[in-house]
Amino acid sequence: MGKKYPCMEVDLNKITHNTRFIVSKCKEKGIDVFGVTKVFCANIPIVKAMIKGGIVGVADARIKNLIKMQELPIPKVLLRIPEISEAYNVIKYSDISFNSEYKTIEKLSEVAAKQGSIHKIILMVDLGDLREGIWENNIVAVTKKIMKLSNIDVIGIGTNLTCYGGIIPNDDNLGELVNIKNMLKNEVGLDFKIISGGNSSSLYKVFDGTIPKEINNLRIGEAIVLGRETAYGKHIEGCYCDAFTIKGEIVEIKQKPSVPIGTIGKDAFGNIPHFEDKGIMKRAIVALGRQDVNIDGMFPYDKNIEILGASSDHLILDVTNSYKEYNVGDVIDFNVDYGCLLRAMTSEYVNKYYK
Ligand SMILES: *Cc1c(COP(=O)(O)O)cnc(C)c1O
Repeated sequence: MGKKYPCMEVDLNKITHNTRFIVSKCKEKGIDVFGVTKVFCANIPIVKAMIKGGIVGVADARIKNLIKMQELPIPKVLLRIPEISEAYNVIKYSDISFNSEYKTIEKLSEVAAKQGSIHKIILMVDLGDLREGIWENNIVAVTKKIMKLSNIDVIGIGTNLTCYGGIIPNDDNLGELVNIKNMLKNEVGLDFKIISGGNSSSLYKVFDGTIPKEINNLRIGEAIVLGRETAYGKHIEGCYCDAFTIKGEIVEIKQKPSVPIGTIGKDAFGNIPHFEDKGIMKRAIVALGRQDVNIDGMFPYDKNIEILGASSDHLILDVTNSYKEYNVGDVIDFNVDYGCLLRAMTSEYVNKYYK
């Protein structure tokens, strides 16, 4: 049977290759990798391709995704600070969770006691990016309190950077993570097993050899799936950046003007559109829209195609300058960025195929 469009085609060998590449670079520096699965909704074939590449745990922001992965024989890590209302499922479905709130950890301990288990946590500290994490000056006091909880095992400390505030990991902030680890060892007697130094934005310090030697864990998503480090947005040499391809089918192709005819009001999203007059052009409509993709984050493999715009279900392309003679029924391929990948993997209208 033929493919149904729109679709996302995933090259699983490229995912495994990228994972192996990054895992081995990290291993040289004594760092283990949690593979982050949230951007592709923990789609099982992709998760398996990552596991084949040598990650030591799967990490996701959402419990629903951890539930999907239950059958896989690998530790499950909950990345997003848990909701108190989800405590039961956090204990049931995650082996390790990242935390920053005493009240939540207290609840996790209570639920773990009922389920007869000890729950492992990694304490998140905020080093300036201003997303999650304990604010440094009260970390000793909070940690002392947490250590009194009967069913919690604090196995590590971690930080997250370049997510909200765009703060780049460097010797100052990662050095501070190491200082906090040492301070907690001296003042509280905790010797952490895991020092988790961030996400794909910390990789450049692995590659240039400047990552502090105490850091022994990273959580990596984007670098594996898109072959890109995220501190400077650079392609990682040796990794594929086209493991994911979004494909849509042409449903109309006609010569039309480049400027709409009549009085211009608002488009489908309430914006007033502007048009440059390029004369008559060859325009293709692809059955793909904002309900499936983020059009600012998709790039035709045919470099002579220009994306003109999109509504919810229609993507409009200028194919005038393409060397290829496109017809109705032809399929157009696009590379994606992180935001577009997220949208497409989340859209139930986008079929998923693996090769
Ligand atoms: C999403 C996320 C990651 C992975 O980030 P990438 O940039 O995709 O590598 C790591 N840690 C936390 C806490 C996250 O939320």
